Amino acid sequence: MAFIAESTFVTRYEKRTWLVVHEKGLVARREEGRLVFPTDEELSAFGVRTEDAHRLGTLDETDALALPATGDVPAPFETMGLRALAGLLAPEMFGAVGRAMHTCDWLSTNRFCGRCGTPTTRSAHERCVECPACKLRVFPRISPAIITLVRKGDLALLASNAAFPGAFYSTLAGFADIGESLEETLVREVHEEVGVNVKNVRYFGSQPWPFPNSLMVGFTAEWDSGEIVIDPKEIADAKWFAADALPAIPPRLSIARRLIDAWVGEVLGRR
Ligand SMILES: [Zn+2]
Repeated sequence: MAFIAESTFVTRYEKRTWLVVHEKGLVARREEGRLVFPTDEELSAFGVRTEDAHRLGTLDETDALALPATGDVPAPFETMGLRALAGLLAPEMFGAVGRAMHTCDWLSTNRFCGRCGTPTTRSAHERCVECPACKLRVFPRISPAIITLVRKGDLALLASNAAFPGAFYSTLAGFADIGESLEETLVREVHEEVGVNVKNVRYFGSQPWPFPNSLMVGFTAEWDSGEIVIDPKEIADAKWFAADALPAIPPRLSIARRLIDAWVGEVLGRR
């Protein structure tokens, strides 16, 4: 499947691909290990209003439409979260589904004006909702967060998150605060979560993370000083790991995994 993102909202094709989002997951069914999206006919069984659809782009000569759903999801369809989707989707479709999830979260949380309470309307020209009374305009919120692999020689600092203790060890991450550069966020977050000071912050790459609305900005950094002292509210455990003795790590398609794989490749490739 090939997805092309577009910012025109006018449908272009006879056929549609419905990316239906229910609460925090995508509505689809499984068929021989792949995802199948609902057809126009099947949609009638869902609690959706097709006039709420929001065009995202072109998917294999169909209009790819995000559509928020409420109510029960009829079998054999199911609501799939991130973990299930990561195992079933090709990377390019993971991006399209992410756009649908982010779009539906934005639409469902901006049905009323945050300033005066009037029901909002959609802009015909921009990805924007507008208040007809006070003219407030609300664009999709994108929340930047840093994610970083901290190195100390050939070792890397990986942590188990307190929210999913024991699930896997990953790179450190945290949201940018008001008034911070991303480099400042990184230094602060690493110090708050594991107590160490870092230097030589270098950009690595970025990834939209629409659960529900982040943009993860990846960096590498080097240990400068300090012993590991975890913040137990955020971190269950943190350790320095060698590249040939890794714990369970995050699934493919995540930038955390890309950071770890790049480090492992560099360290082991050098030997
Ligand atoms: Zn208003």
